Amino acid sequence: MTLALIHTPRLCERTTLRLGGPALAEAVVFAEADLDQLGKELSCLGGRPLALGAGSNLLAADGPSDLVLVRPVNNAVPQVVQTGNSALVRVGAGFGLPRLLGLCQRLGLSGLEGLTGIPGKVGGAVAMNAGSYGVETGSLLTRVRLWTPEGGLIWREAKDCAFGYRHFDAGLGSGFSVIWEAEFLLASDAPGAIRARMEATYAKKKAVQPVTARSAGCVFKNPAGLPAGAGKLLDEAGMRGRVLGGMAFSSLHANFLVNLGGGTAAQALELLDLGRSAVRARFGVELETEVVVVS
Ligand SMILES: Cc1cc2nc3c(=O)[nH]c(=O)nc-3n(C[C@H](O)[C@H](O)[C@H](O)COP(=O)(O)OP(=O)(O)OC[C@H]3O[C@@H](n4cnc5c(N)ncnc54)[C@H](O)[C@@H]3O)c2cc1C
Repeated sequence: MTLALIHTPRLCERTTLRLGGPALAEAVVFAEADLDQLGKELSCLGGRPLALGAGSNLLAADGPSDLVLVRPVNNAVPQVVQTGNSALVRVGAGFGLPRLLGLCQRLGLSGLEGLTGIPGKVGGAVAMNAGSYGVETGSLLTRVRLWTPEGGLIWREAKDCAFGYRHFDAGLGSGFSVIWEAEFLLASDAPGAIRARMEATYAKKKAVQPVTARSAGCVFKNPAGLPAGAGKLLDEAGMRGRVLGGMAFSSLHANFLVNLGGGTAAQALELLDLGRSAVRARFGVELETEVVVVS
């Protein structure tokens, strides 16, 4: 398969919030062999490249942009190398995270269960250092393979990368890079026990999060050093269930911004401002966005 180029792709069709106007172009990258062509296309197209996974952590502006979306769809069955009581799992960035969790459960490989319920692709999970219930993507990684227009494909050991709260830095500088593959070290366990932990995690989330709504997960980070998370602060500042046009802070979980239908990014951004101001006024705390805002 060769690289596919799509002109003026609509971000509202590529993000779980269903928001965003047309980008300049989208390059869909199927295989390693396409990456040479990707470099050439990026320099011909101009614009600003943006790596895209499942768009489950993006809030994209309404109008047209000069973004060139780069979407890896390398989703072949992961390679698994068993070594005693553990295994190395090498997986493409375009592989779905929920699918990876399901596969590991069936193979009796444990570690990722806390990430149950997080949509998105492996590349997006690494880029965001996605985490929940005490598990962070970065803590299970052994190495990451990245592509840059200048240097091509290179492996970076996890110990040479920086991982923080919804933050990943491969140490390659500020230029554009795409996560192409990741390798995880997972421990062997009984598939039934892994499934039970996954089900328990999902049940806990479903009880308190609008898991099937059009959202991008939590929009603000939990402030460091405070016992209350961003959701509780927003709730106590009166933002739970607050509606603006077609957008709202969920009535189930105040830190989830949801598109009720027909919402716009302008409304979403205004609600974020309202939430930030309300929490600042009530608690003197400055909320930082977790959702990636692109325009
Ligand atoms: C219902 C719901 C629940 C959620 N729960 C959680 C949760 O519990 N914990 C959590 O951490 N997140 C959660 N999220 C947010 C989101 O799912 C995660 O951040 C996810 O890892 C994003 O993956 P993605 O493929 O959708 O990335 P995208 O949204 O496509 O991109 C997110 C960022 O990663 C970059 N990126 C994506 N792919 C690549 C790549 N291949 N190379 C380089 N950069 C890349 C993008 O440029 C962008 O900056 C939730 C979202 C939803 C909708």
